[in-house]
Amino acid sequence: MPGTELFGAEERKEIEDVLSTGIMFRFNHDAQRNNIWKAKDFEEEAKKITKAKYALAVSNGSAAIMAALAASGIGTGDEVICPPFTYIATIEAVLLLGALPVFAEIDETLCLSASGIKAAITPKTKAVCLVHMCGGNANMDEIMAVIKEHKLILVEDAGQAFAASYKGTATGCFGTAGAYSFDFFKIATAGEGGILVTNDETTFKLADNYCDHGHDHVGNNRGMENHPVIGFNFRISELHAAVGAAQTRKVPFIRESNLKIKKALQTQLSKTAGISFSKLGDENGDSGTFLNILMPSTEIAKRTVDEMNKAGVGGFNYWFTNMYHFINQWDHIKQLKTASKLAIQVLGAPQDYNNLNIPKTQDVVGRLISFGIRCTWTEEEVRTLATKISECVVKAMQTEKV
Ligand SMILES: *Cc1c(COP(=O)(O)O)cnc(C)c1O
Repeated sequence: MPGTELFGAEERKEIEDVLSTGIMFRFNHDAQRNNIWKAKDFEEEAKKITKAKYALAVSNGSAAIMAALAASGIGTGDEVICPPFTYIATIEAVLLLGALPVFAEIDETLCLSASGIKAAITPKTKAVCLVHMCGGNANMDEIMAVIKEHKLILVEDAGQAFAASYKGTATGCFGTAGAYSFDFFKIATAGEGGILVTNDETTFKLADNYCDHGHDHVGNNRGMENHPVIGFNFRISELHAAVGAAQTRKVPFIRESNLKIKKALQTQLSKTAGISFSKLGDENGDSGTFLNILMPSTEIAKRTVDEMNKAGVGGFNYWFTNMYHFINQWDHIKQLKTASKLAIQVLGAPQDYNNLNIPKTQDVVGRLISFGIRCTWTEEEVRTLATKISECVVKAMQTEKV
């Protein structure tokens, strides 16, 4: 949780600016706010990192992905190809918009693969919601070729991949719109916050309307603004945006530190038999937020997790059994348990979610153990952690031979 490690004077100063005027609303109140616009600052900082033409700060990453889908034209009855390995917000956003998730295979990049997407395409496929998982990047050249060939809309959930890129383009900036999360567990945090990016003016305006009850944000009389579309409230507060802006300024340092630590961990760990690492679409575009270890098999990964629990090695995620990141535990989605009726219950699911054929995904996620990298780790701490992980893997591999 690198951002949270560096919470300090810079964040406090930004919050103090807002408190000095008391204007916690991001729009209007021009006379009272003393030219303090933290949501705008947060957006500018996000644009510096992503090079996106437009950025919109919103209440959280889930809202950002929902608005990105909506502003890209995804709605009722549209089939959207999604990964079975993602934070569940991606799937919730698709479902709540009335669209229908179609699950496709990921590969060792931990993201949807071009072949996985291709195999899941039907005549009803409208879009792909690509998720850049665990701080990395997908194989964009291959994926973009499929998107173009089949004339699909691409929306990117880069919730975990702010500051990641592929061949010089930020993750989140390949499709019609992209989303980042600034919740408490990401590379930078606003407490709660999200950023939507796009290079298309129309998409940006639509997202801007959608995230604020349809307000067109023209003029200075909020009550008299036009409402081009029906929207909702996904606004960020100035207090959250203030923290987000300060944190985003720290992201280049965090990334550099993360990558140095990740390299040291990988160098030491690669000497241990049985350990390999997840792949990156572009090795130079990693955000370095996670060290992603791939074990030779799911059984060995499970034994490694047991050994690490016994040895008190913390700070890792075994996503295969995680309730929120992997489809095997998404019973509520498989059984379509909803608070109120959704489009999918009227239209029918596009796949039998209880009998999905995703062997590659089961294999990759079963073998995957991810460590959240802390940007403040010392060399000593890094060495100790790598040694402990190695010891646990050696034990797990020995059990294999017996
Ligand atoms: C964190 C995350 C989200 C949700 O972001 P929130 O800010 O927590 O709403 C969405 N997608 C992915 C991939 C995430 O990791």
